[in-house]
Amino acid sequence: MQIYDTIIIGSGPAAYTASIYLRDANYNVLVLEGFNAGGYPPGGQLTSTSSITNYPGVLHCSGQELMDVMRTQSTKLSSQNEMETVCKINYTNNNLHEVITEDNTYYTYSIIIATGASAKKLDFVGSDKFWNNGISSCAICDGHNPRFKNSNVVVIGGGNTAIEYASYLSKLAKYVFIIVRKNNFRTNTYNTQNILKLSNVSVLYNKTVIKADGNSWIENITLNDNTIIQTAGVFYAIGHIPNTDFIKNSELYNDILTDGYIDLSLLHNIRPKGVFVAGDVIYGAKKQACIAAGSGANAALDAITFLETK
Ligand SMILES: Cc1cc2nc3c(=O)[nH]c(=O)nc-3n(C[C@H](O)[C@H](O)[C@H](O)COP(=O)(O)OP(=O)(O)OC[C@H]3O[C@@H](n4cnc5c(N)ncnc54)[C@H](O)[C@@H]3O)c2cc1C
Repeated sequence: MQIYDTIIIGSGPAAYTASIYLRDANYNVLVLEGFNAGGYPPGGQLTSTSSITNYPGVLHCSGQELMDVMRTQSTKLSSQNEMETVCKINYTNNNLHEVITEDNTYYTYSIIIATGASAKKLDFVGSDKFWNNGISSCAICDGHNPRFKNSNVVVIGGGNTAIEYASYLSKLAKYVFIIVRKNNFRTNTYNTQNILKLSNVSVLYNKTVIKADGNSWIENITLNDNTIIQTAGVFYAIGHIPNTDFIKNSELYNDILTDGYIDLSLLHNIRPKGVFVAGDVIYGAKKQACIAAGSGANAALDAITFLETK
């Protein structure tokens, strides 16, 4: 039976960075990349964006290009990568983690969970056509587009993220409309009140988007009351779904979840030791690629310390 030093579950910046560190330290690593797990191919969420400008060391490239390089760096030399989705983990009597995919069962001394979180999307006429052509789920990543400087943009959502996005975009776009499905916000902090008082931000309550129109780039949206808003950008701020179903199925491990995310403060609750976590799947993580990569390096270094003391 082959026993890996570490099995890394996931295939975004966090997983690939962790694998690079472990491989360079000469450990025997298996990366289980998933097969369209959470709706993403190997490479993770970044594969769905055409433009990255805030990853240090990279002036400008598509998300797919950046992740192709990371994947090559991960697989080069020794780490073994398989496109399999993990369904469950067990802990055996001889202190090994048993990692189960649809096709195989693997054994390891330690695991790094880096399965990310999938941004929720909406489904209306034109939502697919204008994804990446005006529609995005990340204002921090895509809000700097010069098109927005003299245009309206729209944020959809009624929580803290919508407020955060509106605040960020109010400095980059001419005018920000926030579309809220209900008749109130789910947040009412001092910050919320301040953002809503800005002269270039207004809220439309009890509204949903039914259609987006334009040529190659979005130009307007139609709301459920048939109002048409001219806009060069639409930002979803409607939350993420953490990819942790396999942990919910794994009874010895599932005490580490808060709101479906892995809560680092709860890791000591579980008996299996040698469990490390990286990236967007962490409860409270700021969802950015370089933060995920840094946390992958951190998890790998913790795993190395664990393997050395074993
Ligand atoms: C449209 C968009 C644009 C963005 N633009 C930027 C940007 O410009 N700059 C920036 O810094 N950040 C950007 N982000 C955020 C960035 O993509 C994330 O913060 C980052 O990808 C998180 O990395 P991760 O490694 O934690 O997880 P992810 O990228 O989510 O990758 C996780 C991977 O794990 C796999 N997986 C899930 N479940 C399993 C399982 N059970 N078994 C095996 N594999 C599994 C998934 O298929 C996925 O490939 C953007 C996000 C989106 C959605």
